[in-house]
Amino acid sequence: MRGRALRMRPLHQAHGGPGLRVRWHPPDFPLRDAAELVLRDSIRELGLTEVVRDVHVHVDLRNRDDHAYIEWNTHDHRAARLSFALGNFVTPARRRAWARTWGRRAGTPPVLPRQFSRKCFAEACLHEFFHLRDDHEAGVDLAAHPLEDREALNELWNVWIDGRLHRRGLPAMTRRERHRVFVRTLAHYPHFKRKGERIFNALWSADHLGPKELRAFLAEIQSPSPAGRRVKRRAR
Ligand SMILES: [Zn+2]
Repeated sequence: MRGRALRMRPLHQAHGGPGLRVRWHPPDFPLRDAAELVLRDSIRELGLTEVVRDVHVHVDLRNRDDHAYIEWNTHDHRAARLSFALGNFVTPARRRAWARTWGRRAGTPPVLPRQFSRKCFAEACLHEFFHLRDDHEAGVDLAAHPLEDREALNELWNVWIDGRLHRRGLPAMTRRERHRVFVRTLAHYPHFKRKGERIFNALWSADHLGPKELRAFLAEIQSPSPAGRRVKRRAR
């Protein structure tokens, strides 16, 4: 773990406070105790202790990859629902091993408490709660945008989040890995080739942005509107 470590503490002493209720589904998830400490520490680390009061964690046992998402109510940030694929709780090496041994088998791999990776789960928790924090502090929320733009906007947002986690010395996806996802998600836009790199660098190093800025970055790589193209041709 880099920089400030997320320290293990007895549950009753953990920040993220006694007033924070965490519910798990399934309730008998074998890594629950270890994971809940990390989750509470992530909330504290992001300064959300007084904001988030009720967290519902859903573990997708059938999914071995590291897919994760968070949902919250736009007007009430006290309750959040997180969903984590099983791969979020273990190291990338174990995910790869699972893919080799379980790739062609049905069912889920056995998951043992000793396989829990605090660093990997902290990375996932911090990233997901950062989405909620950005809405809380800067009004960033995908729900306000057209459905067809949300995946792209979310990826721009992801780069901004992981860049900030890096600068704070907290567990985060590597720059290289984030860049790979960024390219995979956005390369189909017409101006990506010309502007993608500059936008990635701007997002990765940005501290303060808002919904308008994210929207403007997306507009830069999207094709100009048909009206815009007509105006341009006439001007020539
Ligand atoms: Zn994200």
